[in-house]
Amino acid sequence: MNDNCKANKSIGCSVSSCEHHCGNQDYCSLERIQVGTHESDPTAVECTDCQSFVMKN
Ligand code: SF4
Repeated sequence: MNDNCKANKSIGCSVSSCEHHCGNQDYCSLERIQVGTHESDPTAVECTDCQSFVMKN
C-alpha cells in the first residue's frame, strides 16, 4: 500500500488490485481516468470498464 497515495475524492474506486488504487481509501489516485466499454452496444453497468486499470505488482 502506498501511504503517499493522493486520493482523488472525485474518483471513488474499490478495485484494490489496481496500481492506481489508494489502498485503505477507496479512491483512485489519478487526476483523470478513461472509462470505456468492451461491448458494441453497452446496456448495463457490467458493460463498462476503467481503461486506466493497471495490475498491481
Ligand atoms: S485506474 Fe481505474 S481501476 Fe484503477 S484505481 Fe483508478 S479508477 Fe480504480
